[in-house]
Amino acid sequence: MLDRKTLVLNRSWMPVTTTTVRRAVVLMARGVAGAVHPGTFEVAQWEAWIERGPDDVHRLRGIGFEFPVPDVIVLTHYNGFPDVPVSFSRRNVYRRDGYECVYCGRAPGAGALTLDHVRPRSRGGETSWLNCVTACVSCNARKADQSLQAAGMRLRRRPVVPRWPGGLDPSSLRERPVWHRFMPAKALSATLGESSA
Ligand SMILES: [Zn+2]
Repeated sequence: MLDRKTLVLNRSWMPVTTTTVRRAVVLMARGVAGAVHPGTFEVAQWEAWIERGPDDVHRLRGIGFEFPVPDVIVLTHYNGFPDVPVSFSRRNVYRRDGYECVYCGRAPGAGALTLDHVRPRSRGGETSWLNCVTACVSCNARKADQSLQAAGMRLRRRPVVPRWPGGLDPSSLRERPVWHRFMPAKALSATLGESSA
């Protein structure tokens, strides 16, 4: 239970990262974070949480102690975003592109998507954020080993190096519906897009 994940919000209630319950409890005990009840949005500081915390959440039981496990904490002072780069992967390219083919705009589901090199590998194209895009199977087949120009195809949007809040991987939300209410809409829709695929 101590290794369970807790969502961390900055002072403005923007999700910045996740941490372990162990670390969340330490932050609360030091007075730099409060626990947020995900249903009511009420914030409780350490003592109030330990003594009168909600009953409708997981509880941690040990020898001589028992207290509610925080699903979400809000930091008292910190108001920034940690600068954590998003790792490059096929899955993260799909997430960046909202699970849509950048050529035709269709969203056939993750299983029917492919990673396309805008400048083909055979012509020296790199496997990188700026040269890789999400393409449906038929657009990828149509483009094949050609340049955009030769294939007569166009990108609906230019590939970018993505920035998610604090590098927080939107997929980490799937398992915890109580976190959905704290997420920026874009991250949430990318996550839900994936789970429906
Ligand atoms: Zn397509």
